[in-house]
Amino acid sequence: MKKFNLSSAANRREFLKNLSLALGFTAAGISLLSLNSCNSNKSSEKEQNRNAAGKNTGGKKLGIALLGLGKYSEGQLAPALQETENCYLAGIVTGSPDKVDKWKRQYDIPDKNVYSYENFDQIKDNPDIDIVYVVTPNALHREYVVRAARAKKHVICEKPMATTVEDCQTMIDACKQNNVQLSVGYRLHFEPHNQRVMELGQKEVFGPVKTIKATNGFKINVKPDDWRLNQQLAGGGPLMDVGIYCVQGVLYTLGRAPIAITAKYGDKTRPDYFKTVEQSISWQMQFEGGLIADCTSSYNAEAGLLYGEAQDGWWRLDPAYSYSGIKGETSRGKMEFEEVNQQARQMDDFANCVRNNKPTSVPGEMGLRDVRILLAIYEAARTNKKVGV
Ligand code: NAD
Repeated sequence: MKKFNLSSAANRREFLKNLSLALGFTAAGISLLSLNSCNSNKSSEKEQNRNAAGKNTGGKKLGIALLGLGKYSEGQLAPALQETENCYLAGIVTGSPDKVDKWKRQYDIPDKNVYSYENFDQIKDNPDIDIVYVVTPNALHREYVVRAARAKKHVICEKPMATTVEDCQTMIDACKQNNVQLSVGYRLHFEPHNQRVMELGQKEVFGPVKTIKATNGFKINVKPDDWRLNQQLAGGGPLMDVGIYCVQGVLYTLGRAPIAITAKYGDKTRPDYFKTVEQSISWQMQFEGGLIADCTSSYNAEAGLLYGEAQDGWWRLDPAYSYSGIKGETSRGKMEFEEVNQQARQMDDFANCVRNNKPTSVPGEMGLRDVRILLAIYEAARTNKKVGV
């Protein structure tokens, strides 16, 4: 890895860039968020910053129903919906009746906005709900996205969008046929350090990108019968769960998709636990022009890196993908961005897109593209051959 060059002039330049980006502008004065979200351009930095947080975009707050009240809904999405400006937590859909009372009390949700998976289709008659956010195990996303679309509700679907490309296409088609928008829960598109990486890579701020490394993993500690360890429900192991952030990170660094993939499964040191999914995997994504991005993902090691090196400089986010505490630096110095609520920004942006009938920057088509790549990575690991995408 290259050494940092901490000359004070260079540091000042990076500080000014950080500042302008934190306020929603690139160094060239272009509204960065307008590149990445449907929020419209604003003329002052202050205004842009406020807009990025979702304020002042006009219209009524849209009602979101969370479908699947597991850890992510409970720990991240519901709390984030207390901070949103364009949408609010209006309803819940759950298969666990024992959860209902607590949620109703905690978030002031009326009975008429509480659904089970059985009566969920009746949501079509509920004007309080504009958007359904699907937060179930991966293989179940398709069913609930399609049912939400048929109920004429806009949809956010958690990552990975599905476990097959066909399912992704079915979900996209259902949303198109019913004239509703579909977005994927790619929260990092709304996080300033990651947005800065998009800018550094895509705009070739340090010249053409030469090297990218991405790794994401954690020591999983779920019960052996958890869906995350079940190929049928999860579609795979750490790659589907957190390696997808590496795929995303590499692709938004470059702003383009790979042409070929090679991959290798890691050894299973706990075969009794990782019965049907991989324990770890490493893969390389090859891009037109020859660049090769190196990635790894694991359920047995803590990591969260997104590193890029260009002709005249480098950048490094570590941790890169967490809900908070993301840290970044470049060859010009530390990134100094405000901590944001990624999920609140993501949902506010989508609500704003729906209200203004503008396309989301993280649509179903992006989710499908990524699932196609994830499955190509598995194919390459399984066959030990280079796989085109
Ligand atoms: P979880 O296990 O905590 O919750 C899953 C929920 O789905 C539970 O409420 C469970 O009751 C429900 N469910 C419905 N049918 C089920 C079935 N047949 N088997 C098991 N559970 C069933 O999982 P989670 O961590 O909340 O993840 C849910 C989704 O959110 C996944 O797609 C995951 O990839 C995604 N997620 C995204 C992020 C992010 O940062 N964007 C973070 C965590 C999870």
